[in-house]
Amino acid sequence: MHNIVKSRQLFEKAQHYLPGGVNSPVRAFKAVGGTPIFIKAAKGPYLYDEDGNSYLDLINAWGPMILGHAHEVVTEAVAKAIKDSFSFGTPHRKEVEIATLITAMVPSIEKVRMVNAGTEATMSAIRLARGYTGKDKIIKFEGCYHGHSDAFLIEAGSGAITMGVPSSPGVPGGTARDTLNASYGNLQAVEEIIAKNKDQIAAIIIEPVSGNMGCIVPPRAFLQGLRTICDQEGILLIFDEVMTGFRLARGGAQELFGILPDLTTLGKIIGGGMPVGAYGGKKEIMDFVSPAGPVFQAGTLSGNPIAMAAGCAMLRYLYEHPAIYRLLEDTTQNIVNQFQINMEQLELNYTINHIGSMFSLFFTENEVKDFKDAQKADKVLFGKYFHAMLQQGVYWAPSQFEVLFVSTEITPQHADQIAEANYKALAAIHECLED
Ligand SMILES: *Cc1c(COP(=O)(O)O)cnc(C)c1O
Repeated sequence: MHNIVKSRQLFEKAQHYLPGGVNSPVRAFKAVGGTPIFIKAAKGPYLYDEDGNSYLDLINAWGPMILGHAHEVVTEAVAKAIKDSFSFGTPHRKEVEIATLITAMVPSIEKVRMVNAGTEATMSAIRLARGYTGKDKIIKFEGCYHGHSDAFLIEAGSGAITMGVPSSPGVPGGTARDTLNASYGNLQAVEEIIAKNKDQIAAIIIEPVSGNMGCIVPPRAFLQGLRTICDQEGILLIFDEVMTGFRLARGGAQELFGILPDLTTLGKIIGGGMPVGAYGGKKEIMDFVSPAGPVFQAGTLSGNPIAMAAGCAMLRYLYEHPAIYRLLEDTTQNIVNQFQINMEQLELNYTINHIGSMFSLFFTENEVKDFKDAQKADKVLFGKYFHAMLQQGVYWAPSQFEVLFVSTEITPQHADQIAEANYKALAAIHECLED
């Protein structure tokens, strides 16, 4: 057992002053049991905790740290920006720079508005879609997570599934009624919903690759089908690329699949680890946003100069180093291949889904193509696996329904270490199953 005395003490104290001891639910380890680890520092591929343990990091701050932790490109840009004050509340040069980078990288974005989180991006994109189309209803997919604003907390993924609250108290019935849910990958369900709500749907919002019920990659034909229906029905297609943007390719899932949404929401990598989100799309739609147009949306700290400095440095690096996407994919494939070999040796047959530098290991033998499939995974077994991995020094996401992220700092040696930990963890939890 590694020593986590200080994490225990801090968590004890944290529970007195913070609801559940944390500032975001999944961090509390409720789904896996035990004490959350308090991290003190992180560098490259490693997290270092308060008790002096180190872990190879497969969460990467839930996505942003695609270059690993404290990458000098980002830390230097931030150190430089800090000298010029933390915030101006006026336009500044770095906002123009990041907008130029985003529009150059993301195929469907012609204009962009910066906000402070993914939640704000999706919330604002929906308001814009409603304002632009003059319609109220939206279609989303079961198990997709689009942040914690009211309209999306209906059969939502991520922390919402982990905590067993598919919808949350506090979401008004009226708001919930305007959110229509279809199962992921089911085009026919979408067609039926549209037929029943003719001319009332403002937007379809989707994670073009889902990462919030674990990793699920839809068939291209499904996304293409959504594009076609949206064009026919005058509905806006919104790709929520908060997770996949700058992760699956420089231009996100839309570049990978070659399918262009009307609006895109971004977050996570876009801030290089700072709290940043953005939404963007076609000029004529984005010009509906205030002050160019009538749809109001604002932010005291939006476009914050320190956050923009971090984001610009991150995006510029990715823009100038497109080869890293191949490297990330190879590293991930290597890890997945080794896991498959481990499972063959242990006569196990769990499902691994992966794409680019995202992957999930589901504790079920079924194929996982939608939320219902994901729900079949054995959560108790997952909890044991999670703790066994921690013991081996690998920081896995503390929920069956989160995706793992690979950073450019994971070398082939690290990949071997992760694979070895996986073998030992699987072997350990199966021995304990048998007795
Ligand atoms: C993380 C995430 C969000 C929410 O972003 P926050 O910055 O946590 O508010 C929205 N959509 C998707 C697809 C995400 O993965």
